[in-house]
Amino acid sequence: MAALSPRQLPQTRQFDTIVIGSGIGGLVTATQLAAKGARVLVLESYVIPGGSSGYFERSGYRFDVGASMIFGFGDRGTTNLLTRALDAVGVSLETIPDPVQIHYHLPDDVTVQVHRDYEKFLQELGDRFPHERQGLRQFYDECWNVFNCLNAIELLSLEELRYLTRVFFQNPRACLGLVKYLPVNAGQIARKYIRDPQVLKFIDIECYCWSVVPADLTPMINAGMVFSDRHYGGINYPKGGVGQIAQKLVEGLENAGGEICYQARVAKILVENGRAVGVRLATGEEYRAERIVSNATRWDTFDTLLGDRPLPAKERRWRDRYQKSPSFLSLHLGVEASLLSADTACHHIIVENWQEMEDPYGTLFVSIPTLLDPDLAPEGYHIIHSFTPSWIEQWEDLSPSEYEAKKEELAWEIVDRLERVFPGLDAALDFMEVGTPRSHRRFLNRVDGTYGPIPNRKLPGLLPMPFNRTSVPGLYCVGDSTFPGQGLNAVAFSGFACAHRIAVDLGL
Ligand SMILES: Cc1cc2nc3c(=O)[nH]c(=O)nc-3n(C[C@H](O)[C@H](O)[C@H](O)COP(=O)(O)OP(=O)(O)OC[C@H]3O[C@@H](n4cnc5c(N)ncnc54)[C@H](O)[C@@H]3O)c2cc1C
Repeated sequence: MAALSPRQLPQTRQFDTIVIGSGIGGLVTATQLAAKGARVLVLESYVIPGGSSGYFERSGYRFDVGASMIFGFGDRGTTNLLTRALDAVGVSLETIPDPVQIHYHLPDDVTVQVHRDYEKFLQELGDRFPHERQGLRQFYDECWNVFNCLNAIELLSLEELRYLTRVFFQNPRACLGLVKYLPVNAGQIARKYIRDPQVLKFIDIECYCWSVVPADLTPMINAGMVFSDRHYGGINYPKGGVGQIAQKLVEGLENAGGEICYQARVAKILVENGRAVGVRLATGEEYRAERIVSNATRWDTFDTLLGDRPLPAKERRWRDRYQKSPSFLSLHLGVEASLLSADTACHHIIVENWQEMEDPYGTLFVSIPTLLDPDLAPEGYHIIHSFTPSWIEQWEDLSPSEYEAKKEELAWEIVDRLERVFPGLDAALDFMEVGTPRSHRRFLNRVDGTYGPIPNRKLPGLLPMPFNRTSVPGLYCVGDSTFPGQGLNAVAFSGFACAHRIAVDLGL
C-alpha cells in the first residue's frame, strides 16, 4: 500500500478540539471525540499516521517502525482497547493470534517461551526453575488479581469524579483492589514469593522488555495488565502490519466527520490570557479550538510547543521524578525464508549477561512479523526487526561519514550476536536498513528519540504519572507521557481517558 498523500489544509479555522499528532493516543482521542459529535482536527507533521506504530516500505518489504507485539485486540472484557477504539468509529481489523508472546534467550543458556496458554507457560517456567515453581505461580496469580480488577471496569478518565463514583458503586471490590496496587511496584510483589536472585532477574527482564526499567521501578498496575492480558486477550498481530491500526483509525475518524492533515507540523500552541486557544503551523497558518490536545511527548510539548513560557511547577515536579528513557538502534532486515523453521516464535529477547541488561546495546529485541503475516515480505523472504537501547548522546557530533561508519559497525556486531540464535543469518541477508536514535528523533518527532518517560528512582507505582489535564487551561496531553505509560494499548487507554475528560468539559 502506498503512503497516504498529504492533504489540503482545512478551510475552517475553528474546531472543538485540535489534536497535535496522530500517534495511537492522539487518534483514539480524536476518534472518540468525533464519535461523540465534536468537530475534530488532527495535525500530523509526518506523511502518514501512527508515529511509533507507523511503517515504511523498502524493496518489497513493509517494516513496522516500532511496535509489533500488540495487546488490546482481545474480544472480551474491558481492556481490549484497540478493538474498542476501532469499533467506536465503525471500523475493524483482521488480526492473527500469536501463540507465543516472547521466546527468551537468557544467560547460562536458559530459554523460556511465554505461551499464550497460562498453564503451559507456568509449566515451562517451573521446569526451568523447579525450586521456585510455587513462588512463580503465586507472583503471576497476584498479577491476575490486578488484571481482573482492571478488566471488570470501564476504563475512562480517572480525573472525572462522576465516572469514578459510578464505577465505584458498580464494582467496589475491583476499585478498592486497584487503589491498593496503585502505589506498588512489581519487584515488591515478586520478592514476596521468589527468593532466587536468578529468578528475580527473570522477573526483571519480563518488566524491562516493555517498561525499560527493572521490576523494582515498574508499576504493578502495568505489570498486572501485561502479564495477564497476554494469556487472556492475547497478543494479536494486525494483518497488513501494525501501520494498519492508525490507518483504520483515520478511516473511522473521517467517517465520523473528523479531519486529519499530514505534513502539518505544529510549531506553537497559542496561549491567550493563560489559556490554550489554538495552534500555529510551521508554515504560518493558525487554527483555533476550544480544547488543544498534544500527542507529542511532555518534553516536546512544554519545552518547544509552548515556546518560552516558564515551566509550570507541576511539570517541574514531574521532571524531578521521571527522565527520558533511551531510544533504540534498529536493524530492519530482509532474510531468506529458509533461515527460519516454521515453529520459530515471532518475538525474541536476547540477554547474554545479566549485568548488561540495562546497558546500551545490552538487551536485543527481535520481531519476525512475517511468521504471522507472510505478505509483509516478498515471497520466500522474512522480515527480522531487531532493536536495542541506545542513547542520542552516542550519535551526536559525528560527521556524515563517521555516522555511517558507526551504524555499519554496530549493525554487524548485532548481526553476529543474532547469529547465535539464528545460525546462518549473515549468509541469508537480503536487505538491511539501520535506524538510530537520530532517525527516531527525526521521523517519530520525539525529543532525543526517547521511548518515553521512565522513573529516575523508585517511585510509588503509577501514582506520580500525570493524567491528561495540564497546568495550562484548555491544554491536555495524551500518549505515553501520560498515565499509564508506553505501549499501544496503554496509550489507547490514555486516549479514551483524554477524550472522556474533554467531552465532559465541552458538555458533549
Ligand atoms: C522500537 C520500538 C518498539 C516498540 N515495541 C512495542 C511493542 O511491541 N508493543 C507496544 O505496545 N508498544 C511498543 N512500542 C511503544 C509504542 O510504539 C509507543 O508507546 C506508542 O506508539 C506511543 O504512542 P503515542 O500516542 O504516545 O505517540 P507517538 O507514537 O509518539 O506519536 C506521536 C505523533 O505526533 C506527531 N507529532 C509530534 N510533534 C508534532 C508536532 N509538533 N506537529 C505535528 N505532529 C507532531 C509525531 O509525528 C507522531 O506521529 C515500541 C516503541 C518503539 C520505538
